[in-house]
Amino acid sequence: MIDATSSSAIFNKPEAEPQETDQDTILAQWSTVNAQLRAEIGEAAFQSWIKPIKIRSIEDGVVNVTVPTRFMRDWIVAHYAERIASIWQSEVPEVVSLDVSVRSDRSPVQPRENMKRQTPAAGENARDMAGGRQGHNNAGLDARFVFDNFVVGKPNEFAYAASRRVAEAERVPFNPLFLYGGVGLGKTHLMHAIAWHIRQTTPERTVLYLSAEKFMHRFVQAIRESTTMDFKDQFRSVDVLMIDDVQFIAGKESTQEEFFHTFNALVDQGRQIVISADKSPSDLVGMEERLISRLNCGLVADIHATTYELRLGILQSKAAQIRADIPSKVMEFLAHKITSNVRELEGGLNRVVAHSQLIGRDITIEATQEVLHDLLRANDRRVSIEEIQKQVANHCNIRISDMHSARRARSVARPRQVAMYLAKQLTARSLPEIGRKFGGRDHTTVMHAVRKVEELKSMDPGFAEDVELLRRMLEG
Ligand code: ADP
Ligand code: MG
Repeated sequence: MIDATSSSAIFNKPEAEPQETDQDTILAQWSTVNAQLRAEIGEAAFQSWIKPIKIRSIEDGVVNVTVPTRFMRDWIVAHYAERIASIWQSEVPEVVSLDVSVRSDRSPVQPRENMKRQTPAAGENARDMAGGRQGHNNAGLDARFVFDNFVVGKPNEFAYAASRRVAEAERVPFNPLFLYGGVGLGKTHLMHAIAWHIRQTTPERTVLYLSAEKFMHRFVQAIRESTTMDFKDQFRSVDVLMIDDVQFIAGKESTQEEFFHTFNALVDQGRQIVISADKSPSDLVGMEERLISRLNCGLVADIHATTYELRLGILQSKAAQIRADIPSKVMEFLAHKITSNVRELEGGLNRVVAHSQLIGRDITIEATQEVLHDLLRANDRRVSIEEIQKQVANHCNIRISDMHSARRARSVARPRQVAMYLAKQLTARSLPEIGRKFGGRDHTTVMHAVRKVEELKSMDPGFAEDVELLRRMLEG
């Protein structure tokens, strides 16, 4: 606990002298802060990021700390510094901030094993990466990518359930688990979460996670150094093998060949394999047939593009994690506007929060628009004709196929015209291009639709409002 008398005595020193707290007091404060942090961020993140921090001194309300690497410093500054300072402040009101620097002499401060933990890319050989045996190093796993931090919604619930199943199962439930989906939708997050879970619950199992790119580099290196037997041994002795972004080895024949054999050897021994890719197995161009058929053998789970609800859920969860107080209007705005992927959504949120903290201004929609204008513009451009068709069809309760069909009934023709109008307004596509996307219609049909919708809008405020609503939904 904190010794209140000594700390207040220290902070009551005369102005002229630099205000410095003695080491024992500091350490006592630090351990109180630690306890709270550990409860907040969980054991894994705590071990990775907080444990290696060394407290040097407190001077004039600034806590000076050091960490072993630059990478760690940047990470802590970005993710934890503010929180550490604010917990500290709740104990000792004089504390205002944290200053993180890299310590020059690493070895006396931390045992070597700890050092390895810092770098997410830790582990230069398969043994290191097979973490189970060593128990503690991060093995290339991101401490934030755990199941608890994964927000589940319609687009990812199947992939999530399948991942949990693999993580929790005692016997291999399906092999391989193949996760696929577009960029930034959570594939790597789920894979790391599986690895973390297994390492926590059954540490005796060896889990090896690596990107397909790394797999290839290791393989090439093994050939160059004539150590292919070691390579094979290493890969074939793990309990769980996870290869991320397997599309990378498309078109790379000998790596595929080696991967194929590794794959079969592991499956034969009843070991679990988890693969991710940006496309389904059958859509992977440049993959050998026999490999594709193996990949298709287990459970194939896709992660769909995010929905508005999922994006909002993710924002709320992230805001809570970083303890940022963000008006719900701003969160809704972001969830509407940044539709491309979760990585950008997170990045946007972080920028908005950092900006408001930096300049000490409230977070508003206007400030958000200002700070994120580049990101918002990039997302604006990404509205596709398909999305427009889908949104309008949903809104008007017709089938998406009616956007392409020849049916002329007003109940489908009008929504179709609205969709064409919106396509013209919201995308950079030409009239003929738009026509083609609507069942191969002529550009004059599109032109007619645009005019018709404009005319209706000017005559019927209810209709205008409806179109406006659709436009806003699509734009954000
Ligand atoms: P991918 O590997 O599919 O390209 P990642 O797994 O790297 O995507 O995810 C990108 C970022 O978005 C990560 O920071 C990840 O934590 C976050 N993310 C993605 N999906 C979710 C989700 N459902 N809940 C919380 N965070 C998510
Ligand atoms: Mg990834």
